[in-house]
Amino acid sequence: MSARILVVDDIEANVRLLEAKLAAEYYEVLTAADGPTALAMAAAEKPDIVLLDVMMPGMDGFSVCRRLKDDAETRHIPVVLVTALDGRADRVAGLEAGADEFLTKPIDDVMLFARVRSLTRLKAVIDELREREASGRRMGVIAGAHARLGGSGGRILVVDDHARQAQRLLAELSVEHRPIVETEPEKALLTARGAVDLVIVNTDARGFDGLRFAAQIRSDEATRSLPVLAIVDFDDRPKVVKALELGVNDILARPIDPQELAARARTQIRRKRYTDYLRDNLDHSLELAVTDQLTGLHNRRYMQGRLDALAKRASAGGEPVACLVIDIDHFKKINDSFGHQVGDDVLREFAVRLASNVRAIDLPVRYGGEEFVVVMPDTRIEDAHRIAERIRLHVAGSPFRVLGGEELLSVTISIGVAASLPDEASPQALLRRADEAMYEAKAAGRNRVIARAA
Ligand code: GH3
Ligand code: MG
Ligand code: MG
Repeated sequence: MSARILVVDDIEANVRLLEAKLAAEYYEVLTAADGPTALAMAAAEKPDIVLLDVMMPGMDGFSVCRRLKDDAETRHIPVVLVTALDGRADRVAGLEAGADEFLTKPIDDVMLFARVRSLTRLKAVIDELREREASGRRMGVIAGAHARLGGSGGRILVVDDHARQAQRLLAELSVEHRPIVETEPEKALLTARGAVDLVIVNTDARGFDGLRFAAQIRSDEATRSLPVLAIVDFDDRPKVVKALELGVNDILARPIDPQELAARARTQIRRKRYTDYLRDNLDHSLELAVTDQLTGLHNRRYMQGRLDALAKRASAGGEPVACLVIDIDHFKKINDSFGHQVGDDVLREFAVRLASNVRAIDLPVRYGGEEFVVVMPDTRIEDAHRIAERIRLHVAGSPFRVLGGEELLSVTISIGVAASLPDEASPQALLRRADEAMYEAKAAGRNRVIARAA
């Protein structure tokens, strides 16, 4: 997976070195020599990752990082801070500023690429979610509010059978989170399937293989998107790399520094809440996008996709697909006499009667205004006609209760019926025939069903 990486360093030689290394691995590299330029480029170019030097004259790396994370447009771009060797204080300050990762100078190639790969994967997921959310926004189905999510108060699952270390983690995490400890991987996996925000796993546990556990978290459908922080002895480089390759989100080096633990946990939880937020919004928006808000029936957009597929299947030798076009008679009069509100009540009540009088495989749709369509897979025109007649009777047969039951309204509908022809791959003509039949029914006096064979 390739990525665009913005390298920021005030020392030309450092920039060139990183650029050469990254370009050799086919990453696209952008460069900036100071903070303001970096901010401008991040906003304009939307890189996938920013590699940011801490020590720069003027605006240092921490401020650049903070500015990137404060801006809704760049907040999601992972930032890797490049610090001096043994820069413990720098790391903590960096995490406070919202940095996602650290590399120490001189940069170790293996660590560099392991970090870049794992951040690229993460970024791809977030991009996908953001992209779908943005299209939902364009369709007008997502409310505009942007999430500002905190990273404290998380439910953290610590998986460690080293009693002393687990107790220490528990004590430190309890300051701002709700941690729990599990010492067996099987039980831990069950707990992880519940409401957990972050998993911290010891990769040097005595009784189980921590990396294997991390891999299980990644492969289990219910826990796949949970962030995992792996505790690794930092000198054990092969294990660090292996953990990142397995999809662990972050590494906590042993001996564990309490401040670093706090900051990394907060970063992971904040990020999880952000992706959860995007996902929830997305599920909701997808539902909104295919549902008519007044009646709860599917909408025209949803119908179009289904009908296209069914028509294609029918023309490829399957059973015909039938359509009913239904229009409420003299609906305008209801609005005019009783008000729009009552008109809405009638539409809702009609939708209920319609949905309860079609078969489970049929798709009742609000096509627009007071016009409805029922798509009927694998249905011959005679059967569709019979069902249409049943719907008509169910509407005309008993009055609609409106205004809280005060008023009884007699409502009728006109229905046009058509079915797909053997070599008709597009549903346009089918819908047109059903629509014409509906108008014939209107012209013939309303409250009736007319089918049109061809
Ligand atoms: P016909 O028997 O020929 O179908 O007459 P009609 O009055 O039903 O048809 P017409 O197309 O003249 O009027 C439809 C009316 O439906 C006009 C429009 O204001 C109203 N309408 C469309 N959507 C809604 C809605 O969501 N709620 C309400 N209350 N009225 C709606
Ligand atoms: Mg009408
Ligand atoms: Mg109409």
